[in-house]
Amino acid sequence: MNTISIFKGKYNFLSNFFTLEVPIAYNGISYPTVEHFYQAMKSLGPTDPGALNPVDRIIIAGDSSPFMARNFGRTIRLRPDWENAKISVMRLGLILKFAANPELKTQLLSTWESVLVEGNHWHDNIWGNCMCPKCANTKGQNLLGYLLMEVRELFRLIK
Ligand SMILES: [Zn+2]
Repeated sequence: MNTISIFKGKYNFLSNFFTLEVPIAYNGISYPTVEHFYQAMKSLGPTDPGALNPVDRIIIAGDSSPFMARNFGRTIRLRPDWENAKISVMRLGLILKFAANPELKTQLLSTWESVLVEGNHWHDNIWGNCMCPKCANTKGQNLLGYLLMEVRELFRLIK
């Protein structure tokens, strides 16, 4: 099996930073990228009891770039269950992304014969696999790649 090991160029659409033609809509808020959605979900929702700052999600959704959303996400007070929730949040973000954008879903399905790995140079060995010399002996967990393959399988089964 061949591997798509970098989400650039032709495979840019696999990146969470890819700007969506149809944004992710969730609970009345639109997110232009999966990154915006993921960062926003770190905060409690507006109707959650004990929400510390119910506007965090709206602020993040309105950030002009996924980089800004990520940086803001680093400053907010995390919901108490975030560690347990984050994989499911990412999975949902990916499902919503590809469900809202059928052309991207077709492109995802066309990678069927490939293993997906988010190769990077920013030392992310949790969601991807860093390819820098320093990380050469660390095998990335590639959680994003596995979730993408899981979602791909889901859309293959449910047409
Ligand atoms: Zn590295």
